[in-house]
Amino acid sequence: DFDFASRVERVEPSATLAISNLANQLEADGIDVVDLSVGEPDFDTPENIKQAAKASLDAGDTSYTSSNGIPELRAAIADKLRTDGIDCEAENVVVTPGGKQALYEIFHTLIDEGDEVVLLDPAWVSYEAQAKMAGADLSRVDLSPYGFQLEPALDDLAETISDETELLVVNSPSNPTGAVYSDAALEGVRDLAVDHDVTVISDEMYDEITYGVEQTSLGSLDGMGDRTITVNGFSKAYAMTGWRLGYFCAPEEFVSQAGKIQSHSVSCAVNFVQHAGVEALTNTDESVTEMREAFRERRDMLADLFADHGVDVPVGDGAFYMMLPVDSDDQTWCEGAIEDAHVATVPGSAFGTPGYARLSYAASQERLREGVERLAEHGYI
Ligand code: PLP
Repeated sequence: DFDFASRVERVEPSATLAISNLANQLEADGIDVVDLSVGEPDFDTPENIKQAAKASLDAGDTSYTSSNGIPELRAAIADKLRTDGIDCEAENVVVTPGGKQALYEIFHTLIDEGDEVVLLDPAWVSYEAQAKMAGADLSRVDLSPYGFQLEPALDDLAETISDETELLVVNSPSNPTGAVYSDAALEGVRDLAVDHDVTVISDEMYDEITYGVEQTSLGSLDGMGDRTITVNGFSKAYAMTGWRLGYFCAPEEFVSQAGKIQSHSVSCAVNFVQHAGVEALTNTDESVTEMREAFRERRDMLADLFADHGVDVPVGDGAFYMMLPVDSDDQTWCEGAIEDAHVATVPGSAFGTPGYARLSYAASQERLREGVERLAEHGYI
């Protein structure tokens, strides 16, 4: 018998796991499942990025790198963030094996047992788990009464944030809603953060995937430079989920503390993957644009298909997700949808927002159409 640490015992197994287990079981039985549950682009990594990785491998870039990343990539990331208006130098950047690891390091750098972390619901599943593993107490603000927008929820946020709050997590464009928060909303966040001396994580993982709007970086706002930790990565914008490459940008004193977690845990991100990351940042505009356009067409098509069935789905201006309102318990709905209609989705309760199912439209138009038809046929919409 193991005497497990409370840190793992206070975290629930992921609700998404039950769905992917069901999907795998059905697929093993030879059943065709329309999988709208996955949080990754269905595109292959652009060819020039793969070539850069191969060239780097051939050049012998197979050793450890310095823990915070190769200088070329840290500099390229700082350049990118400066174009977003963030005051960032290479020294402010830590390159991590994925954005998820960046977040893990940030939570563990800041959070002591009992510290308050505020989330905006629906929130990406791993914030809660990571915050809890670090010992945080969570407070949550529900954006679902406001069509998932942050601006109308600022009063609620003001009631939740206090001088006791250590950290607020903002994710725009949002997984799972696709919402891109307005400048007025972000300025409201800034005012509260400054008033109550709160640190803010700005998770900008989907910043390249927006439709007709520009995403504003919180760290670019006056007063936010020294209290914002900007997180981003290569998984979504460049279809590089399996490469595991991400980063955060923070004030230098934060970097030196968080750097201890990085160097004593993962050591560094993969050497030749970091070299491919330089290519991705500096030479991939065209592929990013093509993927963005494809996502946009799919989003519009999916919203139209639901509208044809009389279902009004709140449509966000970014990322590749939608929250479909469901009129029964969402866990039961999602399990039923996969068992009866063979369409995999994720229950909203996994994101702190029951009553919805999250759909990813990182799938071909043909598969999306098929998915909606099956849901309609089986009475799920
Ligand atoms: N943040 C958000 C909002 C995400 O949706 C994801 C991935 O699903 C991540 C962070 C982490 O991505 P990665 O670890 O692949 O960089």
